[in-house]
Amino acid sequence: MADDHAAKAIGCYGAGINQTPNLDRIATEGMRFNHCYVTNSICTPSRAAILTGTYNHVNGVTTLETPIDNRLPNVAKHLRTGGYQTAMIGKWHLGEGELHQPSGFDFWSVLPGQGEYFDPVLIEMGKEVEVSGYATDIITDKSLDWLNQRNPDKPFFLMCHHKAPHREWEPHPQHRQLYQADIQTPETFDDDYKNRAKAAAQAKMRIKDDMTYADLGLVQPEGGSEVGERARDKSLRRKIPNPDDVSALRLIDKDTGEIFTFQSKAELSHFKYQRYIKRYLRTIASIDDSVGRLLDYLDHQNLSDNTVVIYTSDQGFFLGEHGWFDKRFMYEESFQMPFLIRYPRIVAQASMCDHVVCNVDFAATFLDLAGLQIPSYMQGNSFLSLLAGGPDGSWPDIAYHRYWMHRDPDHNAYAHYGIRNQRYKLIYWYNEGMGLPGTNHGGEDREWELFDCEKDPLELFNVYSDPAYQSVVIHMTRLLDKKMAEIGDEPAHSSPNPGHP
Ligand code: CA
Repeated sequence: MADDHAAKAIGCYGAGINQTPNLDRIATEGMRFNHCYVTNSICTPSRAAILTGTYNHVNGVTTLETPIDNRLPNVAKHLRTGGYQTAMIGKWHLGEGELHQPSGFDFWSVLPGQGEYFDPVLIEMGKEVEVSGYATDIITDKSLDWLNQRNPDKPFFLMCHHKAPHREWEPHPQHRQLYQADIQTPETFDDDYKNRAKAAAQAKMRIKDDMTYADLGLVQPEGGSEVGERARDKSLRRKIPNPDDVSALRLIDKDTGEIFTFQSKAELSHFKYQRYIKRYLRTIASIDDSVGRLLDYLDHQNLSDNTVVIYTSDQGFFLGEHGWFDKRFMYEESFQMPFLIRYPRIVAQASMCDHVVCNVDFAATFLDLAGLQIPSYMQGNSFLSLLAGGPDGSWPDIAYHRYWMHRDPDHNAYAHYGIRNQRYKLIYWYNEGMGLPGTNHGGEDREWELFDCEKDPLELFNVYSDPAYQSVVIHMTRLLDKKMAEIGDEPAHSSPNPGHP
């Protein structure tokens, strides 16, 4: 698993912005999912849903500030009880200390918090160790070391979780020169956020306005009253200006000292986007190398035929769509997770799945693949039948999303919840109503959005109030109500439709 890896930045998903031959191998030898979704598009909650097979209002990990209670059952505990050797290596991001560190794993070695790209500290079985090198390489080395020392007579479950391509996108030195030619800018890069709920215009996730010096590997020219390391760190976290007059702006590459100047605002925007996307894609090049090493290992050990290999990310990411970086929203780019799976015994080569699956389904699927019982507390469904191919008429094809962190100071992203099926997406923004039961239910401040994902895949036109879509609004609201009742999440909306039950 990677952190913040958008499907678009994997070769086999077809966007054509980068090459990932090793990740593509999983797809050509297995199955690519086109509609895998996250239940809460942010790191910590997604990881909790994956581990426990429950939604965030049940596992309690609703935000970045709510660490997991590691006494909860999780998929690793079930697999270990079922005879598996288990390991968790790399990005954990579910909390630290006795009650929040990994549990259910025979071996664990994890980055504290977000972790560092270079010379990271790891917490290994409760002890701090510092390892020199590049995080993606180190996580891969440790994964291979663990595989080598395992008992070959017992099955194994390894979670190899990379930090990359998370902000602040520090590439390995050997990949710093990759992607010299410009990457195509998405067609919604200059989105004006008309026809949408106000959250889109309010979010502070814009490449033009909200990138920091550190994000883009830049430093400010010398000067100012502050000196020393602390001042330097503070200045790196400062946003790069986006002034109307760019003539005085000078940006300096932190590694080479190269100085950049600009003739126009458009030129500055272009520079920021290219700098961002190239740094992001360069960190993915290292992940691709890592996946190649793991696949080669399985080949050399004659394990490929009998091992399920999955590549995914904790959520998607905006790569300039709507002018944004980051995630959090139920809009498609951050809502969709890449999901590739290879398992020659069941999964046909170069197959594709268009059914709607979610990260909350992973744990049940893992247990099903292992031939173990799926415990009744899990809320996700095993999609083993979809892996075997062919249509499944009984599969629900519904994804529920709820983002709880209302207007955090860094991103100002609004809390919301909603539902997507194959065709439509319904989103409820409770805005200052906070969505708490017993509050004003969002009151007049609330907003609904409905997108026709077939006719409007870029999600530029909210058709919630369009008379032509009123029967769809009613249908989707019923699906949402039914889903919330099924999983026990409390709605903050009152019935918006006349005649609605
Ligand atoms: Ca993430």
